[in-house]
Amino acid sequence: MPFPRPVPKPVIDTSRCTGCGWCVPTCNLHLLSLEPQGWKKFSVLSDMDACTGCRKCAVRCPFDAITMVVPQG
Ligand code: SF4
Ligand code: SF4
Repeated sequence: MPFPRPVPKPVIDTSRCTGCGWCVPTCNLHLLSLEPQGWKKFSVLSDMDACTGCRKCAVRCPFDAITMVVPQG
C-alpha cells in the first residue's frame, strides 16, 4: 500500500492576520471563522482533519498570514 500523499494544512500567523475575514468565505467547507482573542480577531481553522489542503484560503489572504504546512507526526 502506498502512503497517502501528505495534505498541507493552513497555519495562520496571528502576527500577520488582521482579522479582515477575506479567507473565511473562500473555504467551501466552512472550516475557517473569525474568533476573538483578546481585543483582536483572528482566522481560526475549526477542523484540521476535514481540510483538503486546497490552499484557496492561503492564496486569498492579502497579508500572507496563511502558510500551508504538512503536519508532522
Ligand atoms: S485573509 Fe488573512 S489577514 Fe484576513 S482574516 Fe484571513 S488569515 Fe487573517
Ligand atoms: S486549505 Fe482549503 S479546505 Fe483547507 S481551510 Fe483552506 S480553503 Fe478550507
